[in-house]
Amino acid sequence: MVFEQRRPGAVLFDRDGTLIRDVPYNGDPARVRPMPGALEALSRLRRADLPVAVVTNQSGVAKGLITADEMEQVNARVEELLGPFDAWAICVHDDGDGCTCRKPAPGLLIRAAAVLDVSPRECVMVGDIGRDMEAARAAGARGILVPTVETRREEIEHAPEVADDLTDVAERLLREADAAPAPVAAGGSAWSRALGWSRW
Ligand SMILES: [Mg+2]
Ligand SMILES: [Zn+2]
Repeated sequence: MVFEQRRPGAVLFDRDGTLIRDVPYNGDPARVRPMPGALEALSRLRRADLPVAVVTNQSGVAKGLITADEMEQVNARVEELLGPFDAWAICVHDDGDGCTCRKPAPGLLIRAAAVLDVSPRECVMVGDIGRDMEAARAAGARGILVPTVETRREEIEHAPEVADDLTDVAERLLREADAAPAPVAAGGSAWSRALGWSRW
């Protein structure tokens, strides 16, 4: 699928292995470590008035490995280190629960987009594994894979788009946003969509 270069409606980030180091089933806020370039990349997107959100699978809750409260403490620490996010969409289920939100299902992306009042098709999903890219595809969003050493080769090969790191992601999106038609002034987004601006 070819995406036109245009200003994203929102940038949705996976949490573990993308915004912060992946510590499996971490319930300890003291163990939260940002990925390289994460704060700077987020700051640049925020300065450009691009909404940023987190969409994260947290099956440790369903597995009983962490409590919902521990998960919330970790998320609070993420915001202490990386700044506030415009939305959080979290799946606390596990494979086999049959939910519609656990990535690779598109539910989290659809939920975050709804909270941000944008179409999932205007969103960019940034993640470190194939599940993130599958969820993006299922939601009609643009997917950008930022591989880590844990990312499997076939996930990289099948990714719609691959970036070196979060700095690369931010630079790519901001360069494209600059090249895209200027968005109308604040408050005009509904008008823009009504006129099909996002289809240009
Ligand atoms: Mg991840
Ligand atoms: Zn779920």
